[in-house]
Amino acid sequence: MAATNRHPDCDVAIIGAGFAGLYAAYKLTTLGFSVAGFEKGNDVGGVWYWNRYPGARCDCESYYYSYSFSPELEQDWNWSLRYSEQPEILRYLGHVADRFDLRRHFRFGTAVTAATFDDASGLWTVEDASGARITARFVVSAAGCLSQIQRPAIPGLDDFTGEVLYTAAWPQEGRDFTGKRVGVIGTGASGVQAISRIARQAKELVVFQRTANWVIPVWNAPTNAQFDAWVKANYRDIRAKCFTSSGGTPFDPPRAAALAVSDAERRATLEEFWGMGGIKFFSAFSDVFASVEANEVMCEFVRAYIRSIVKDPRTAALLTPNDHPIGTKRPPMDDAYYESFNLPHVKLVDIRSHPIAGMSGHTVTTTAERFELDALVLATGFDAITGALLAIDVKGPGGRSLRDEWAKGAGTYLGLGIAGFPNLFTVTGPLSPSVLANMPVAVEQHVDWIARCLATMRERGFGRIEAQRDAQSEWTAHVAQVADHTLYPRSNSWYFGSNIPGKPRQFGVYVGGFSNYRERCESVAQDGYTGFSLS
Ligand code: FAD
Ligand code: NAP
Repeated sequence: MAATNRHPDCDVAIIGAGFAGLYAAYKLTTLGFSVAGFEKGNDVGGVWYWNRYPGARCDCESYYYSYSFSPELEQDWNWSLRYSEQPEILRYLGHVADRFDLRRHFRFGTAVTAATFDDASGLWTVEDASGARITARFVVSAAGCLSQIQRPAIPGLDDFTGEVLYTAAWPQEGRDFTGKRVGVIGTGASGVQAISRIARQAKELVVFQRTANWVIPVWNAPTNAQFDAWVKANYRDIRAKCFTSSGGTPFDPPRAAALAVSDAERRATLEEFWGMGGIKFFSAFSDVFASVEANEVMCEFVRAYIRSIVKDPRTAALLTPNDHPIGTKRPPMDDAYYESFNLPHVKLVDIRSHPIAGMSGHTVTTTAERFELDALVLATGFDAITGALLAIDVKGPGGRSLRDEWAKGAGTYLGLGIAGFPNLFTVTGPLSPSVLANMPVAVEQHVDWIARCLATMRERGFGRIEAQRDAQSEWTAHVAQVADHTLYPRSNSWYFGSNIPGKPRQFGVYVGGFSNYRERCESVAQDGYTGFSLS
């Protein structure tokens, strides 16, 4: 199809078929827009299609880490665990695709490589890896915040002749490590989950740790009839709480500041919230992300926990973080991580002090030791937040390149639109609450906003929308300013792009609270899309 055809092949091109792309396809087609979806993977699911490593699981409870848009779906679907594992979440997303007949909108196994806006026709041309093109009036990127794998430059990696597996591109058929010697590089959320599962299967497990993380138990358990009945009877209230909370979760805000209560009360509150498990722990006090002293109260609690579980004091010390306040990097959540290091065949190797120097055959050599391994698991993370979008050659009017535009850091208006790139929307885009909110909620809020915007444009006869540069500058500065008032800048995390060599240091997430953000988006829409130019 010619790129200059004034009648596009579809109204909206959607990139990605995870939580975001699926819901975008549902919502936009329900409103009568024609869509063409593209998905690199061979089926729907996004993160849950790719991350099939042992132990992969959500760390938001399934009853709220799920779609809210269909009350019938909510009532029909049953989760077997409080925190579901990857196969069940993938089944859920497959069920959503079947139930709402969404697969027909997507081309699977099809990676978008370029998107080019033609000023004369006002259309985007979207090109895939085979060179095929379609034209669309709008592009909605639902390409994901954690979908672009980081392939780390580890000395000798190409010379390792055992199997190399990425947690984020795990073989569909799975892997059985029984009787095998396995190495894991990476102790973020993926590595931690994989380690505690692989530890219980492999003959030997070597964990190569560069930086220790604070790992919080979730106390996962099967759901039961009473809990299910409560959730289903209260779903509207639960969802309303999610949409009006600061984290997209159905929890009450913290009751008090850690520094404002007595030692006894502080201790009792910590025990109480630790007992609830997972991210609820961070709701114990209101000042955890703002005050070093308050944060330290939590750190000390977890340090004591690590010491109480890990029998070897040297290993316990090595597993104890010493370079960032708790929560300023996304804390991994797992119930058996620390216990894994009490198993006789599990060894923790400190590659901060003694880095990997090379590999050859089945041997991994650090500056201190050598290890013989059958398989190496890389849980080394993602080029997060901007990576998937920048992997596509996005060009706006006059050939303006998004890669050039963002060379010194991303600029967006509300994480929804980008100045200089008309008719392009990003779902959970850079500088929106995205990964610091419960993501299905963030996804639904963005898709609903975009869909309403497109419907309004259709109604009022507008064909083009673009973020204004001054509105973008104001928002971009605001996001940085809000982050600067927290403890987040005290960590080198992927939130800042610190894990990707050469990536500009910029806090990629709005931390001013999901509900505040949602209200701002609402008022922008109600006031006729202030900060956007419509024509
Ligand atoms: P994704 O699920 O990442 O989907 C994006 C899709 O776009 C992918 O399928 C990808 O293949 C496709 N794509 C990307 N680029 C292209 C291209 N150029 N062409 C075609 N297709 C493309 N968040 C939470 O809130 N709670 C959790 O418990 C939680 N657990 C997580 C566990 C793991 C292991 C990971 C990695 C992330 C987790 N997250 C969690 C964050 C997660 O990113 C979101 O919850 C959610 O899955 C995001 O959905 P999405 O559709 O926006 O993106
Ligand atoms: P990550 O948090 O970026 O962790 C990557 C790990 O690999 C870190 O330990 C890092 O060490 C290490 N690493 C990276 N490059 C390395 C190198 N060259 N040499 C040695 N070590 C290296 O990635 P992730 O674990 O995949 O998690 C990413 C995000 O996905 C999470 O924060 C979370 O938001 C989401 N997630 C959620 C869950 C869940 O429970 N729901 C599960 C998995 C993922 P350094 O710290 O030293 O850089």
